[in-house]
Amino acid sequence: MKYLIILFFSLLLLSCEKDESIDFLKGPWVVSTLKNIELYTRPNNFSTSKSPDSTTINSVLIDQNSFIDTINKRLHINCTSKFKIYLFNRDEAKDLIGTNTGGYANPKDASIYYTFFEKPFFYPDMNLYSYLGLHELVHLITYDAFGLPKNRMMIEGYAVAIENSYGGHFGNNGEMIRTMNRDWMKIFVANNSILTPNELLEGNYIPEGTYYPQVGTFINWLFDRFGVEQINKLYMVDKQDFKRRFRELFNIEYDDIEKDYLEFCKKEFK
Ligand SMILES: [Zn+2]
Repeated sequence: MKYLIILFFSLLLLSCEKDESIDFLKGPWVVSTLKNIELYTRPNNFSTSKSPDSTTINSVLIDQNSFIDTINKRLHINCTSKFKIYLFNRDEAKDLIGTNTGGYANPKDASIYYTFFEKPFFYPDMNLYSYLGLHELVHLITYDAFGLPKNRMMIEGYAVAIENSYGGHFGNNGEMIRTMNRDWMKIFVANNSILTPNELLEGNYIPEGTYYPQVGTFINWLFDRFGVEQINKLYMVDKQDFKRRFRELFNIEYDDIEKDYLEFCKKEFK
């Protein structure tokens, strides 16, 4: 791939030891609400970076609500909770949320904190433009539906599986396009660096750019092979119990799916 890859900083805040002042959420904010989403954006001329205008605000509200439906359908759940999204202007984001190339979800506050990119990304599989995508929303909804697991494979796997992409690249006319998991997988297959199911399960220290597209691909494969509702039963299972529970559910050893998964990758992403 010749194009420049844009990586995101994206994580799930697992512990929340914030003090009560929550300085980083200090206003002024423009608050806009549609159905399940309450969106906080900066007013016009708040800083040197552009603030979202009303068209952008509407577009974020509409796509985030529609993504809740998408996630519910994919996971066979029915989340009806309300979520808050804070969009920080690009020039303040790094100081306030630690990054200006993405953001994070805090499930316990049912909130997403994210950088406002002045241009949306194109999502080829959904054929739409979106400022936030649905990765962080998956974190909030899975917490709402199942709880907060300690297993990175399930946390990030679900988010990247449903978004079906990770990071992005520039298209010919300069637009930012999300890079699909399958395009990442072609690189890993060509480099002979596919992570095995065991490496993915143990994968706490694997860098995000290597881990995310692969764990998303693996979770989608598990969904297709064993059924979403069955895999959902593993969402909250701790790493040390994972293989035992897997055997109980599917009557096969977790170690034994490795061959099938690697063959699938080599065939599907050559
Ligand atoms: Zn994440």
